[in-house]
Amino acid sequence: MINGPFSETFYFIVYVWIAIALVSFPLVLWVVAPYGRHTSSHWGPLINNKLGWILMESPALFFFAWCFLTGSNHHTFIPWIFFSLWIFHYINRTLIFPFRLRTRGKKMPLVIVLMAFCFNLVNGFINGYFLGSLSSKYETQWLWDPRFIAGAILFISGLVINWKSDNILIHLRKPGETGYFIPRGGFFNYISCPNHFSEIIEWSGFALMTWCLPALAFAIWTLINLLPRALHHHRWYKNTFPDYPSNRKALIPFVL
Ligand code: NDP
Repeated sequence: MINGPFSETFYFIVYVWIAIALVSFPLVLWVVAPYGRHTSSHWGPLINNKLGWILMESPALFFFAWCFLTGSNHHTFIPWIFFSLWIFHYINRTLIFPFRLRTRGKKMPLVIVLMAFCFNLVNGFINGYFLGSLSSKYETQWLWDPRFIAGAILFISGLVINWKSDNILIHLRKPGETGYFIPRGGFFNYISCPNHFSEIIEWSGFALMTWCLPALAFAIWTLINLLPRALHHHRWYKNTFPDYPSNRKALIPFVL
């Protein structure tokens, strides 16, 4: 499946990375991540919110691309599909999404930016290096494998719901406004955080279609980051808006 002298060390790093995610889960559940509506000055120096987004997402775009493009594999068609989907997502998240946010004057703790930067550095490395240098299993028949097809459907559905949900949230504010409103429409009729739900779907789909450990690690990390954030947002909505729809769940329609 994989080759090269670094492969055992590489797999060890990825297993450790997954273990860190699992061990961190209770902490991430307990501590409310202090950015966006939960931003706080108790976490040290603050920086501009949009700049923070660009900086912290950059490694997932640029370092991933560098690891893939300088890899030793002669890339077949299929790794290029994975590369394109990843890059498509991260061009939006790094270079478009921050400029669309209506967060005038908002700041986030520098420590959050640094932590997310390191997180994206590791994920960018393990996925870019794996697809660029270690993977050798993707033959053309993989295009008809049920894992590839189901994963691609999940990824694209997640991407579309994510963009739609981000868009609804961004347009809740008129230009210049900074307050919060109850979002409605689309998956917001069922859950408080379809943007987080769909991001989890997206990277689970990517893990399924690539069928590799680094992408699984990223999907696990995404769940561990975003499940608690959705629960914290949901609790915040219920505490903030007395008329918040009582049948709406936090992350999974009708379930959680
Ligand atoms: P949020 O839902 O907290 O905020 C998204 C934007 O919409 C912010 O600008 C926010 O403003 C604004 N907003 C949200 N709710 C309201 C509301 N009720 N009224 C008015 N404006 C609102 O999303 P996150 O910041 O947590 O995440 C942004 C994107 O990044 C998501 O798509 C998420 O899935 C993705 N992400 C992925 C991660 C991963 O591990 N793969 C980790 C973190 C995020 P304000 O900032 O002022 O609150």
